Amino acid sequence: MMSLRLPSIDGVLRHPACGPLLERHGRESLLAGLRQLLDELRPGVLNGQLSAVEISPEVLAGRVSERLAQQQRSHVRRVFNLTGTVLHTNLGRALLPDEAIDAVQMAARYPLNLEFDLTSGKRGDRDDLIEGLIRELTGAEAVTVVNNNAAAVLLTLNSLGARKEGIISRGELIEIGGAFRIPDIMARAGVRLHEVGTTNRTHARDYEAAINPRSGLIMRVHASNYSIEGFTARVPTAELAELAHRHGLPLLEDLGSGSLLDLTRWGLPAEPTVRQALLDGADIVTFSGDKLLGGPQAGLIVGRKALIAKIKKNPLKRALRVDKLTLAALEAVLGLYRDPDRLAERLPSLRLLTRPQADIFTQALRLQPLMAERLGEIWQVSAVEALGMIGSGSQPVARLPSAALCMRPQVSKRLRGRCLLNLEAALRALPIPVLGRIDDDALWLDLRQLDDEPAWLAQLPQLQVDP
Ligand SMILES: *Cc1c(COP(=O)(O)O)cnc(C)c1O
Repeated sequence: MMSLRLPSIDGVLRHPACGPLLERHGRESLLAGLRQLLDELRPGVLNGQLSAVEISPEVLAGRVSERLAQQQRSHVRRVFNLTGTVLHTNLGRALLPDEAIDAVQMAARYPLNLEFDLTSGKRGDRDDLIEGLIRELTGAEAVTVVNNNAAAVLLTLNSLGARKEGIISRGELIEIGGAFRIPDIMARAGVRLHEVGTTNRTHARDYEAAINPRSGLIMRVHASNYSIEGFTARVPTAELAELAHRHGLPLLEDLGSGSLLDLTRWGLPAEPTVRQALLDGADIVTFSGDKLLGGPQAGLIVGRKALIAKIKKNPLKRALRVDKLTLAALEAVLGLYRDPDRLAERLPSLRLLTRPQADIFTQALRLQPLMAERLGEIWQVSAVEALGMIGSGSQPVARLPSAALCMRPQVSKRLRGRCLLNLEAALRALPIPVLGRIDDDALWLDLRQLDDEPAWLAQLPQLQVDP
C-alpha cells in the first residue's frame, strides 16, 4: 500500500481557494490555521486512517476556511429572548431606543464635551450633562451617576456610613443574582450592619431602639426578587424618614428597579417611583438605569445636595464612574420621559411590557402552523396563553398575560426530557439563537418580545432537531 503524504503548507497556500482566505483573514492567521490543521491531521495520515481526498489541498483549504470563520465570529451575539422575562439580566436587560443608539454612535465617533463646560470654556463635571434632566424628572436636588445600582449602593453606603452603623430591617437583607447581597455590600462599604425587626415584621420602635451614638444611617431596600405576604408589617417611608431625621440620620432608599413614572397608567403593576420616595423624605435614592427605566446599565444616585456632594468627593466615585457612551444613551432615554404620552411607543422596554395579549396571541396563531410543519409529527405545537414577568427584580409575583408557542414531544415519558433538551439545543444553535423555557414537559416560546418576526421566520428552515 502506498503511504500518503500530507501536503506542505505552501502546497495548500498555492491552491486557488486560499486566495480569498488570504484576503479576508491576512497571511498570519491563515498560516497559523493551516499549521494547526496539518498538525492535527498528521497522526491520522501516519496510521493510514485518512484518504487522499481528505488531505487534498482543496479539502484542507475548505476546512481552514470554516475554522477561521468560526474564530472570527463575534462572541457577543444577538439572541431572541422568548423566555417570557422581559428585563432578563443574563440577556442584557433593557433594549435601547433609536434616540439612545444615535447618541451612542455620536459619542463613539466624535470628541465631545464629556467634562468640559462649553459656556465657560472651563473644565466640567460629567454628571452635569444629565443632572438637569434627572432633577426635572424626579424632583431631586442633586444627582450623580455610576456604573450600576450595585455601585450606587456601595458608594452611597461608604460615603455616608463608613465606620458607623447602618440600621436595616431583617426583611430587607436581600440577595440579588448571587453576587449582590446587602450584608456583604455593607461590610465592603465599611458600614457595620445593625439589623432590626424580623423577616416578616419590622416596626418603628425597632428602628428607634437601635439608634445609638454609633448610628450613621438608616437604610431601606426594595425586596425586589421576593415578596413577603401574610402577617407582615413595614414602616412607611414617610414615617421612617421622620424618625431618621428626628435623630439626625439620613435615610437611604435602594429602590432597585425604581420607576420614574407610575406604571399603573399603562396597566402594569405598581412600582414605587423615585419622585415619591423623595417626597416621602428619603434623603438618597438609588436605582438602576437598565431595569424599568429602560436605558443603559447605570446606577443613579439622587437626593439632597449636601449628601450628593459628599458622595461625589469619595475617591471611589472615580473608580465607579460611567463612560461617555452610557451618559449619551442615558440622556437620550431620559429625554423621552418628558413626553410620557408617547413613551410606550418610543421606549422599547415599555413597548414590550405593554404589548397587548391579544396581539401576541394572534402572532402565536400565525406562527403555529409553520413551527408545526418544521418540527414534524413527534411534536404537538400549539398557540396558548402564557404568563411572563417583568424581570430584574420588579414585581417578582406579578405576571404579564402573554401568549406562547408551546411544543410538546409526543413520546413516552421516559424520552420526553431528552427530546425537550434536543429541541432547546437546536433552537440555541440557530444563527440568531432562540431562547425559550422548559416547563411542564413542554418547551415554551413566549412571543411578547418577538418583534423581528421576519428574522425569526427566515432562519426557521435551518432548525434541525435530533430525533
Ligand atoms: C437590581 C438591584 C440592585 C442591583 O442593581 P444593578 O443595576 O443590577 O447593579 C440593587 N438593589 C436592588 C434592590 C435591586 O433590585
